[in-house]
Amino acid sequence: LAKSEGPGAMRMFDLAEQAREQERLTFSRHLRQAIERNEIHPHYQPLFRADGAIAGFEALARWKDPVRGIVAPASFIPAAEEGGLIAKLDAYVLRSACIEAARWTQPLRISVNISALEFQSGDLPGRVAAVLAETGLDPERLELEITEGVMVTDADRAMATFGKLRALGVRIALDDFGTGYSSLSYLHRFPLTTLKIDRSFIAKLGVTLESVAITRAVIQLGHALGIEVVAEGVETPEQLDFLIQEGCDLTQGFLLGRPLDASAYAHVTGA
Ligand code: C2E
Ligand code: MG
Ligand code: MG
Ligand code: MG
Repeated sequence: LAKSEGPGAMRMFDLAEQAREQERLTFSRHLRQAIERNEIHPHYQPLFRADGAIAGFEALARWKDPVRGIVAPASFIPAAEEGGLIAKLDAYVLRSACIEAARWTQPLRISVNISALEFQSGDLPGRVAAVLAETGLDPERLELEITEGVMVTDADRAMATFGKLRALGVRIALDDFGTGYSSLSYLHRFPLTTLKIDRSFIAKLGVTLESVAITRAVIQLGHALGIEVVAEGVETPEQLDFLIQEGCDLTQGFLLGRPLDASAYAHVTGA
C-alpha cells in the first residue's frame, strides 16, 4: 500500500511511528523519574471475611503524574518491567506498605504484589527479611502476591525462593488464578497459603454456568489442599452471596471497598 501511494505515504507512516516512539521514550523517562523520586505510592484495598470483618488490605501502586493525572498500574507496571525499574518500584511499595501496616493497632494482614521478574531475579527473601527487621512487622501479617508465570518459568528456582520466604513466616498468594498456564501439580508442590480467583471469573458469576462451576471448584480445590481462597473483583451483592455460600474465605472488590489512600481507612486500622 505504501509503495503504490509513493514515497510520501511512506514518510507519513514513518513520522507517525516516530511520534509514537517519542511518546514511549518520554513516558519511560517520566516513569523513571517518578520511581527515583518515590512519587508512586500504594493505595490500600480491604479484604473481608465472610462475617464482614476486615482481614487486611492489598497495597496497589498509584502514580499521580502532574500532567497525566492518575496513571493506572496496567500501563506503568509493564513499562517498569521493560525499563528495568520494577525492582525499585516493588521494593518501595513493599517497604511503604510494611511501614504503614506496622503502625496499625489492629493486627491486619498486608498483601503486596511482586512482579514475576522481581521474584525470579535478585535476593527477594533477603530483601523481605531486611524490611521485616527494619519495620518490626510480624512476618505472618505479610503476604506476597505472585502470578502463575513464576512457577512455570524456572520451577526449581521458584521453589527455593518459596521455601526461604515461607521460612521467614511470610504468606504467599497466587494472584489472578485461572488466567495463567500453571498445571494443578504446581498447587500442591509449592507452599502456597492463598489462592486468589481472578476477577474475570467473578464478573461472569450469574452470567455463565461455567464461571459458577469453575469458582465453586477452585474454592473446593483450595480447601482440599489447605489453602485459603480469595475472590477478587466482587462488584454485586449477588456475587458476594454466592461466594459466601460456597465457603470462599475472603472477598475483595469495589462493592466492599475501593483502593484508597491509607488515611481513608484509619478508622479500621487504628493508625
Ligand atoms: P491485582 O494484583 O490483581 O490487583 C487487583 C486489581 O483489581 C487492582 O487494579 C484493583 O484496583 C482492581 N479491582 C479491585 N476490585 C475491583 C472490582 O471490584 N472491579 C474491578 N473492575 N477491578 C477491581 P489496579 O490497582 O489497577 O492494579 C492492576 C494490577 O497491577 C494488579 O492486579 C497488579 O498485578 C499490578 N500492580 C499493582 N500494584 C503493583 C505493585 O506495587 N507492584 C507490582 N509488581 N504490580 C502491581
Ligand atoms: Mg494482587
Ligand atoms: Mg489479582
Ligand atoms: Mg487481577
